[in-house]
Amino acid sequence: MEEVDCIVAGAGVVGLAIARSLALNGREVIILEKAESFGTETSARNSEVIHAGIYYPHGSLMARFCVAGRKALYAYLGERGLPHRRCGKLIVATDADELDRLTGIRARASANGVEDMELLTAAQARALEPALHCTGALLSPSTGVIDSHAFMLSLLGEAEAHGAMLACHTPVVGGRVGSGGIEIETGGAEPMQLRCKLFINAAGLGAPALARRIEGVPPERIPGTWWAKGNYFTLAGRQPFSRLIYPVPVPGGLGTHLTLDLAGQARFGPDVEWVDEIDYQVDPRRGDGFSAAIRRYWPDLPDDALQPAYSGIRPKIVPPGAPGQDFMIEGPRDHGVSGLVNLFGIESPGLTSSLAIAAHVVEMVC
Ligand SMILES: Cc1cc2nc3c(=O)[nH]c(=O)nc-3n(C[C@H](O)[C@H](O)[C@H](O)COP(=O)(O)OP(=O)(O)OC[C@H]3O[C@@H](n4cnc5c(N)ncnc54)[C@H](O)[C@@H]3O)c2cc1C
Repeated sequence: MEEVDCIVAGAGVVGLAIARSLALNGREVIILEKAESFGTETSARNSEVIHAGIYYPHGSLMARFCVAGRKALYAYLGERGLPHRRCGKLIVATDADELDRLTGIRARASANGVEDMELLTAAQARALEPALHCTGALLSPSTGVIDSHAFMLSLLGEAEAHGAMLACHTPVVGGRVGSGGIEIETGGAEPMQLRCKLFINAAGLGAPALARRIEGVPPERIPGTWWAKGNYFTLAGRQPFSRLIYPVPVPGGLGTHLTLDLAGQARFGPDVEWVDEIDYQVDPRRGDGFSAAIRRYWPDLPDDALQPAYSGIRPKIVPPGAPGQDFMIEGPRDHGVSGLVNLFGIESPGLTSSLAIAAHVVEMVC
C-alpha cells in the first residue's frame, strides 16, 4: 500500500483551498477527484456572489467564516489581479411587513461584524437603481461577484506549485481507520490503495455518503443527506441594474434574486426544489414562479424574457422545514478519529468562506 501524507477527497473550491493551505504549510498533498476536472459540481453551479455575511445566526460557523472569508477573498483576488467586482447589493422590501424585517436583518448583520449596511428609503434606493420598485432597501456595499473558475484555478496552481497533485477520474470508494493511518481505496480505471496520515473529506454533496463508507468513523457523527436544488434563469436582452438585487429572504433560501456576472449578464435564482437525485436540468415551467417573484421588485420585467439556464444543488444536512443548518466541520476532537476531517453541509456561503474554512481546517490538524 502506498503511503501519502495528506489526501483531500474532492476538488471543489473547499477541497482546493484546503489543499493549498496544507501545501503552503509544507505538507505533501494528493487531491482525489471523481470527475474529469476540478470544480465541476456545486463550485461551478452557484451565484458567484461574494457574500458580506448578513443573514447567518450570530456565532454560527457560517457567520464567522463568511465575514473572515470575504475579507481574505477580496485580499487574495486583489493581490493576484483575479477577476471580481465589489458591486454592492440591495435587499429590497416590497411591502410594510418586509420593511419591518429590514431593521432585523441589519441588526443581525451588525452582530456578525458587517458594519457597513445602510438603510435606504424607497426614494434613495430608486436614486441608485431607477428601475426598482420597493418600499425601502438595505444597501450592502461589501457584497461582490467573482469568477469562481479563475479563483479555483489559482488555488490549484498555488497548491501544485507547493508540491500538491490532483488526480482526476479518481473517486474515493471506501476505506478504513487503521492503526498506521487512514487507508483509502479509490475506483476508476486504475484502482489504488493509499494510506495517509490526514484524510480530508471535502466531497460536497457526496461527503456524508463517503464518510459512511470509511469503516471506523462513528456513524452517529455523520449527518443525514438532503438536497435542495436551486434553478437559475437568465434574462434575454439588457437589464437595468448595476447592483445585485435581493428580496427579503424566504425559508430555505435567499429568495429569487438578481445577480450579475462579471460581464453584466443578469441571472435570476436560485429557487428551492427538494430533490432525491442529482439532475441539473432546469424545468422551463419553473420560470412562471420566477416572473411573479421578480415583478414584485422589477415590475417592468418584459414578458417571455426568462430562459432556463443552469442549476446547482445545496448539500443539506437537515430535512425540509427544519431550522437552518450550519456548516459541520468535524475533526479528531469531535469524532475521535485521528487524522480525519469531515466537511458536511458546505452550502452557501461556502465559496465566500472557502479561505477561512481552509485556515480553520489547517488549524485543527497542523
Ligand atoms: C444554488 C447555489 C448557489 C450558491 N451561491 C453561492 C454564492 O453566491 N456565494 C457563495 O459563497 N456560495 C454559494 N453557494 C455555495 C457554494 O457553491 C458551495 O458552498 C461550494 O461550492 C462548496 O464547495 P465544495 O468544494 O464543498 O463542494 P463541490 O464544489 O461540490 O466539490 C466537491 C467535489 O467532490 C467530488 N467528489 C464527490 N464525491 C467524491 C468521491 N467519493 N471521491 C472523490 N471526489 C468526490 C465532486 O466531484 C466535487 O468536485 C451556492 C450553492 C448553491 C447550490
